[in-house]
Amino acid sequence: MRLQNKRAIVTGGTRGIGKAIVYELAKEGCSVVFTYFSSDETARKIEQELNSDSVKIFGFKADASSFNSAQETVNYTLEKLGGVDILVNNAGLTKDNLLLRMSEADFDQVVNANLKSVFNYTKAILKPMIAQRSGKIINISSVVGIIGNPGQANYVASKAGVIGMTKSNAKELASRNINVNAVAPGFIETDMTNKLNDQQKEAIVANIPIKRLGKPEDVAKAVLFLSSNDSDYITGQVLTVDGGMVM
Ligand code: NAP
Repeated sequence: MRLQNKRAIVTGGTRGIGKAIVYELAKEGCSVVFTYFSSDETARKIEQELNSDSVKIFGFKADASSFNSAQETVNYTLEKLGGVDILVNNAGLTKDNLLLRMSEADFDQVVNANLKSVFNYTKAILKPMIAQRSGKIINISSVVGIIGNPGQANYVASKAGVIGMTKSNAKELASRNINVNAVAPGFIETDMTNKLNDQQKEAIVANIPIKRLGKPEDVAKAVLFLSSNDSDYITGQVLTVDGGMVM
């Protein structure tokens, strides 16, 4: 197992990509505290499915936009798991609209959930990671943070910001033996992209060299690599997982 006895926090772990990441890390021997925003029932179900003799899995209700909630998540994790080796900043949402119609509230909500959350959790985790002189931080960005997308000014700004923060934090933390990388998924089949109709999906697939949408597991495997010692000499990078769409 590639992550035996490791301990992780994964934000937004009850659905889609975050859920696949929790399952992938647990399969490799990593204990996980995952956060969620809405469904207590789903969180309890995931705990029941994954808890075993070798890994401990806990769901923790926390709004990723709130620094206090991030601090509470870290305190809870230290209490339950005794430390944190891996942080995956995955929680995110969309509130799409053309710029002319986008409200200030929708801009703020998306930037707070997608970008400020990365600041919140990274800052909250730093002291324990610096004290143990090791850590892996993986931030989930998006290919649209690299190439832009009409109707997503708020989302794209947040995801481009995540890439910038990843590079800055990587430079700041490398001397502490903490690696910080981003994963930029393309179009992945989750609740977030289920909002697209069949025609929109066909148009997207036409522009993907590997002619399919991605699966949450495709992203989870990239996160596993960046969480493991196999990526010890990699920091400040953006790994696109998009079937070759952006190159
Ligand atoms: P999803 O299916 O909509 O799931 C989003 C997850 O984030 C849920 O677990 C949700 O929790 C959680 N979340 C949202 N806002 C939160 C908040 N304020 N505090 C705590 N948790 C919050 O989305 P997904 O497609 O798996 O996306 C996961 C990440 O990948 C996001 O950062 C997204 O931007 C990124 N991404 C996705 C795609 C794609 O094609 N799907 C492409 C590029 C990047 P609840 O269920 O409890 O609300």
